[in-house]
Amino acid sequence: MTTMPVNLRGVGFYCIVLTVLSNSVVNVHCFFTAFPLLMFGGSRKLSGRLFKFSCLNLSCNIFKTNRFYRSVKLPFSHHCSFPLSSRSFLASPLEPCSFPFSEHSVRSHFSVLRSDKVIRYFSYFTHPAGEMDLKAVLDVLEELAPLSLAESWDNVGLLVEPSKPRPIKTIMLTNDLTMAVMDEAVTMNCDLIISYHPPLFRPFKRLVQKDWKQQLAVRALEGGIAIFSPHTSWDSVIGGVNDWLVGGMGSGQTSVLSQAYTSTQQKHRLEFSILNEGELDGLLEQIKCIEGNESFQLSTVKNEVGGQQVVLTCASSALTGVAQTLLSNLHASKSLNITQVQQPPLIGCGQGRLRVLDEPVSVAAAVQKMKTHLGLPHLRLALGNQKTLDSLVKTVAVCAGSGASVVQCVKADLCITGEMSHHEVLDAVAKGTSVILSDHSNSERGYLVVFKEKLAAKLSHAVNIVVSERDRDPLQVV
Ligand SMILES: [Zn+2]
Repeated sequence: MTTMPVNLRGVGFYCIVLTVLSNSVVNVHCFFTAFPLLMFGGSRKLSGRLFKFSCLNLSCNIFKTNRFYRSVKLPFSHHCSFPLSSRSFLASPLEPCSFPFSEHSVRSHFSVLRSDKVIRYFSYFTHPAGEMDLKAVLDVLEELAPLSLAESWDNVGLLVEPSKPRPIKTIMLTNDLTMAVMDEAVTMNCDLIISYHPPLFRPFKRLVQKDWKQQLAVRALEGGIAIFSPHTSWDSVIGGVNDWLVGGMGSGQTSVLSQAYTSTQQKHRLEFSILNEGELDGLLEQIKCIEGNESFQLSTVKNEVGGQQVVLTCASSALTGVAQTLLSNLHASKSLNITQVQQPPLIGCGQGRLRVLDEPVSVAAAVQKMKTHLGLPHLRLALGNQKTLDSLVKTVAVCAGSGASVVQCVKADLCITGEMSHHEVLDAVAKGTSVILSDHSNSERGYLVVFKEKLAAKLSHAVNIVVSERDRDPLQVV
């Protein structure tokens, strides 16, 4: 069997090599590293775009690969072969032909090369080939990391939605959506790009070509590609970016640095007494009309003197209007008591993490651990005052990205984030805290691989998910 260099990406891609034979039977040899023939056969069509081979017959070899191979050398754990007549294989020589596999895996951009008597045919086959609608994928993304966990200033969720519904067959994960990543997504015929950082953040007043972010939006719409950004919802969620980042330091007792709460909407509780039900009804009519107060809650009990004791909870945005209304009533104004309602915390969710390590390590060992975890040859280190490379690290504060505001308030032996300003580093060092900086996106990007597995499992491996290979931090140590 002759093989050739092919560009195969990610788990579940297949290489198909067609070989011209001289007999009248098409032999289909399927080589699998993991999946039996029936699983494969039941889920895909081998080819929808075969071309005319005149009267020649073919041998087709299918590989499942797990990595990017420059030169395909595949372990064969199964070798299956069955005959097919050339007539059924090439039912109509110039038309898409039927083969006993389902329709869904057929892509429109198969590359075909030939040399001597070998015709090689390869593509981004996925396993199992399938598709979902965008809404269903968004529901799964919400399950994995609710968008309500995102910071209030953030711009998360579906950012670009093409007008024509398009089945989601291929999803690309990237930390940043750059032009290079968009090229890659278009080449791979991606239907949805999940970009951790929101590529659209500030409002646009126009969509023109001179601004690269506007170009991206236009290209996505023209290409019918949806864009979703999770950003700080992934940072906050349990098992998200920050838990992954602190995981590089080993096990330990972990707490959240900036706690997330069940609702981002602040509420106030107003307690007051009122003379009778008639007065209360009059006040409530006015309170209902206050903007932002559509969903206030009310409870009443009769008090000893025959009046009404009232508890009213409203959104903080409506507090001024509600209070003004109550102060206009003599009884209510005399008894009014206002308290802020604290939302229940979402245990384990929020920005940043503090870990007390089960096994303290030296600063030098911590640097090595993080290099390995982040897959980086270099990190920047600032030793805390009075500290050396041998000093012990027991407590570690981490925040993915640009985390100075989150980590600087906490006392820790070591602080790990993507970037901090010169003065923020000086402040940390003065407190005796050592600092490791990886550059912004290097503290986030490694989570994409983790998320890919979570998403694939949730989608029952029904959609092809790839991590961009063009996505990288713009800074590098030279
Ligand atoms: Zn970031």
